[in-house]
Amino acid sequence: MKAEAMNLVQWQERFGTEEACIEALKQQRWPNGFQCPKCGHDRGHWIVSRKLYQCGRCRHQASVTAGTLFHSSNVPLVQWFLAIYLMVCDKGGLSALRLSKQIGVSWITAHRMLRKMRHAMADRDSIYRLGGLVELDDAFVGGRRSGGKSGRGAEGKTPILVAVESRGKKAGFIAMETTPSVSAEKVRQFAKRRLLPWQTTHTDGLVALRVLGETQQHEGRVTPADQVDKWLPWVHIAIGNLKAYLLGTFHGVTGKYLQEYLDEFVYRFNRRFWEPELPLRLLNACMDHTPVRLAAEKG
Ligand SMILES: [Zn+2]
Repeated sequence: MKAEAMNLVQWQERFGTEEACIEALKQQRWPNGFQCPKCGHDRGHWIVSRKLYQCGRCRHQASVTAGTLFHSSNVPLVQWFLAIYLMVCDKGGLSALRLSKQIGVSWITAHRMLRKMRHAMADRDSIYRLGGLVELDDAFVGGRRSGGKSGRGAEGKTPILVAVESRGKKAGFIAMETTPSVSAEKVRQFAKRRLLPWQTTHTDGLVALRVLGETQQHEGRVTPADQVDKWLPWVHIAIGNLKAYLLGTFHGVTGKYLQEYLDEFVYRFNRRFWEPELPLRLLNACMDHTPVRLAAEKG
């Protein structure tokens, strides 16, 4: 689905007032005019002060944000919409501190908004299954310290599984998931969720990855260090980019939120050729998304 490319000036011209944002949500929810979600009646009055429709027959009150990512948020829509723009346009990944200053909300609120937007990003990509020639590998990322021990099992780091479509001179779509361990069972589940069956799948021959032979045309090849980039070029580039991204923006990430950062990285990577369309694409994803309940968390 193609979306319109928009710069910040155009964005604010269109979504610069609360009324304009409400109108956009109304359009999304009721493109053919109001319809009561309870009784199906097509007449209602709009109650401006409460941003909701009251059904003319059963008097059910339908909030314009109900059932969207913005459900029961105290943040005005105009700030939400601006946050969506700022988040996708910040290539390095927008921090909660910066967002809080840019739109004038507390750090906690900005942090929660970013987490909800990452959920919407993850959902968009979770539908897709990788296919064609796929490179698959594991890696260890995150942790507060950079440098030090590297390689499998490094302290304070979280194992992840990464799959990349190899399309010759470029990479196609990617998928990344944290995992408690790189075991045959976890690899099996990852492949089931993320790959179409019976694709040509290249790996480095790690024992736990051999399970891929059950559902894929798996080719595991143990390669000397200097030839690894020939056998698995794209998956290693993707992992390298991810590590730089995590270090640059988030100064190392702990395991707790790592999957959400992976989701954001993957969302951007998979849409790197459609950058100007990203704000509207993410806005649509948020308007379509069901409410996200974040687990209670300590700051
Ligand atoms: Zn009704």
